[in-house]
Amino acid sequence: MQCPFCHQQESRVVDSRTIMEGHEIRRRRECPGCGKRFTTYERVENCLPMVVKRTGNRTAFDPRKVRHSINLAAKKRDIPQKKIEEFLKLLEVKLSGSGRPEVTSTEIGDQVLAFLRRWDMIAYIRYASVFKDCKDADEFINLVRSCETEEPQ
Ligand SMILES: [Zn+2]
Repeated sequence: MQCPFCHQQESRVVDSRTIMEGHEIRRRRECPGCGKRFTTYERVENCLPMVVKRTGNRTAFDPRKVRHSINLAAKKRDIPQKKIEEFLKLLEVKLSGSGRPEVTSTEIGDQVLAFLRRWDMIAYIRYASVFKDCKDADEFINLVRSCETEEPQ
């Protein structure tokens, strides 16, 4: 890898570690010419699967839509936006690294639920009530009750 500072062709890897739950490799490199250090990232080429909705329609994965739905559920709650962005990045890296041509909207929804559940039960319940399509107050109450009894995934 060429040095971005002095453009020497060779550089030495001084540290290498997997990040994003093993879907990305981060390498610290040092230029033997100028001695400066820089970082490179390696991951599977971006090939995001299509999202299959419950209606059977297919649509391109759009992290903006997922972010929007999370932000709606997390409105006025204390989930740091940075954590939401990290989750979205990880979701995208996992999806592109899976090599699958398509993924269901239900699978994505389950990932969002698992994320919200770790951070905020109110946001989780808000998202779940939309995602699981609660028809009335009874269904909503059952959902809340199920949260009290189930162990977090
Ligand atoms: Zn250099």
